[in-house]
Amino acid sequence: MIAVTLDTGVGGGVITNGTILNGVNGIAGEIGHITIDPEGAPCNCGCNGCLETIASAKGIVRQAKEFVKEKPTSHLANTYINKKS
Ligand SMILES: [Zn+2]
Repeated sequence: MIAVTLDTGVGGGVITNGTILNGVNGIAGEIGHITIDPEGAPCNCGCNGCLETIASAKGIVRQAKEFVKEKPTSHLANTYINKKS
């Protein structure tokens, strides 16, 4: 079984044959730091483009803000501006 948690980060855990899989240094479930885009946004772990920088709440907000900045006349930008005021 693999459990995935999504919040401000992306976490996970792996259970196999009834035992938590720890892996080297206990990081077997650290799926949030799997590199998705090596040229992507910097991550708190020091790497770039980890899953967490894309799929976490913080990552989604960052991408939405970048989109709004790039496309200020988009529906998302208009919604964002209206919510702020
Ligand atoms: Zn990372």
